[in-house]
Amino acid sequence: MLNFAVGPVQSSDAVREIGQEQVPYFRTPEFSELMFENERLVKDFAGAEENARVVFLTGSGTAAMEAAVMNVFTEKDKVLVVNGGSFGHRFAELCALHEVPYTEIRLNYGEPLTEEKLWSYGEGGYTGFLVNVHETSTGVHYDMEMISRFCREKGLFLVVDAVSSFLADPFEMKKLGVHVMLTGSQKALACPPGISLVVLSAEAVKRVNENKTKCMYLDLKSALKNGERGQTPFTPAVGILRQIHTRLLEIEKAGGVESEIARIRSLAEDFRKKIQGLPFEIFSPSMSNALTPLHPLNSSAHEIFVTLKDEYGIWICPNGGELADRVFRVGHLGALTPEDNTRLVEAMKDMQRRGLL
Ligand SMILES: *Cc1c(COP(=O)(O)O)cnc(C)c1O
Repeated sequence: MLNFAVGPVQSSDAVREIGQEQVPYFRTPEFSELMFENERLVKDFAGAEENARVVFLTGSGTAAMEAAVMNVFTEKDKVLVVNGGSFGHRFAELCALHEVPYTEIRLNYGEPLTEEKLWSYGEGGYTGFLVNVHETSTGVHYDMEMISRFCREKGLFLVVDAVSSFLADPFEMKKLGVHVMLTGSQKALACPPGISLVVLSAEAVKRVNENKTKCMYLDLKSALKNGERGQTPFTPAVGILRQIHTRLLEIEKAGGVESEIARIRSLAEDFRKKIQGLPFEIFSPSMSNALTPLHPLNSSAHEIFVTLKDEYGIWICPNGGELADRVFRVGHLGALTPEDNTRLVEAMKDMQRRGLL
């Protein structure tokens, strides 16, 4: 199997080896040490301020999205939500569910957020801003510097879902004035799904501690308190936290976050070069390094996905809903090489010879 999906993605051998070990008991100083190191490395790679904190939740990325909405906003807030695809839509649904007043900045699929559009929301008396920096469902990567300027000028509390962008695109929390950043274990962290991460600035920690949360499992106050001794309130996905530890050390040893971003960028560029001449159009005008969204000109995107899976043993990422037949996505996250790109492009060229593209 060769996997170009956007998550789960292929893991390194060292990460996979941990997957077959027995899972240890975790209320120990040794496990606390590992968690402290996880927190230190994530803070470093996220460009977070010195007294920022990291919470590791057992749950997929959506658990971190829900925890953020519940723990930092209240019914007294008025939040702007960028909705350009299914993840932006999810933030809007979470605000509705948790009774946080919100306004959606609606974008068509594949449409970037422009300066003009953003500033047309400048006067609504807003207090917060929610955005998925990379709207993975369409492959649009929003301009974070522009959003950061807007939020600073308007004094908005900025929460960024960087689930598919962390470690793939340059992103520095402190520099951008981001209060909360979310990510998950199964995207560029290239571990199994099951852990999501919430990175909180000192201001965000204060806000969490002042808010009441009507949920036990996703209450970040108790997670932060337990985290002070390198522990979690409940049994976490211990094995995945050990895999994340190995993976973070791997990235550190290879040169840190910049070299990991450069590695993913060069894989993305290599792929985009190799598909030139194939009957595809790039779906997004501003892409992340994490994936390439493609609109096939002559055939169904979903059928291309099925054929590659069933006849070539290669997985790309199909789209759902309205885009199912129009767009598929090729991921560049995880343990992939330029040779893997060649294998995929050769399979596509073979499909073209067979009249399937
Ligand atoms: C993958 C992803 C998530 C998390 O989805 P889960 O299925 O809950 O892990 C959230 N936001 C974005 C932008 C993502 O790409």
